[in-house]
Amino acid sequence: EYIVPHENMVDVTQTMACIQCGACVSDCLAMEVDPLFVGPAALAKAYRFVGDPRDAQHGERLRDLSEDPHGIYDCTHCFNCIDACPKGVDPMSQIMRLRRKAGSDHDIVDRNNGHRHEDTIVTLIRDYGLLHEAEMLPRSYGGNSWFGKFHPAAAKELVSSLPSIVPAILRGKVNLKIAMFGHKIPKTDLDAVKRIYKTVEGRSDRNELNLYVTGYEDEDEPHAEGAEGREPPHEQSAPETEAQSS
Ligand code: SF4
Ligand code: SF4
Repeated sequence: EYIVPHENMVDVTQTMACIQCGACVSDCLAMEVDPLFVGPAALAKAYRFVGDPRDAQHGERLRDLSEDPHGIYDCTHCFNCIDACPKGVDPMSQIMRLRRKAGSDHDIVDRNNGHRHEDTIVTLIRDYGLLHEAEMLPRSYGGNSWFGKFHPAAAKELVSSLPSIVPAILRGKVNLKIAMFGHKIPKTDLDAVKRIYKTVEGRSDRNELNLYVTGYEDEDEPHAEGAEGREPPHEQSAPETEAQSS
């Protein structure tokens, strides 16, 4: 018999609360644009399996969800599914956890450029303190370095985006100097940003917060800001479920 560690059951408990009401799917902005998007409810359910140490197909599942053009990288972080869910499942948070596992734990670099795009944002903010928009597109397509822009895939995307970029420059919506060289923030601020990265990257374990289980910061205040309309947090202990004993 394999006894699932307590912390692993706590980790997947949040997704198990889903009642398949479809409220998150109805409110999902990505689904309006791409009706084939797997969607917040199904992706939250996917974490139920990917977060379970007894599942032997984590890599395959994560690769499928990453490589699928309608998979985990289709989510736009709009937060609507979190607001809509009556059970506190926080589907978007589960999608982000799937991404972290896919990109960081399984090193899956998907054909949709989703992981590279995320990596690019992280690198640019570390290096500049703010997003360097002109570097975003070439790095996301051509590779996360200054040389990414010379990759054929990046060049193709840059050329195809010219009809949007040129009018934006002509109308003064884009500052050419900032576009070329990026934003400059004071050195003390940039150092502060780098310190945050150093602290987070220096941790041996990644902190995965499961708010459904651990509750809100102040559990004595049931009407704390943001708590309206959500289920009260469960007890800290992981529930006895069919899954735990099977
Ligand atoms: S956060 Fe993502 S999954 Fe949730 S509603 Fe927005 S686009 Fe859809
Ligand atoms: S809104 Fe919440 S409970 Fe309803 S389907 Fe989505 S995740 Fe499940």
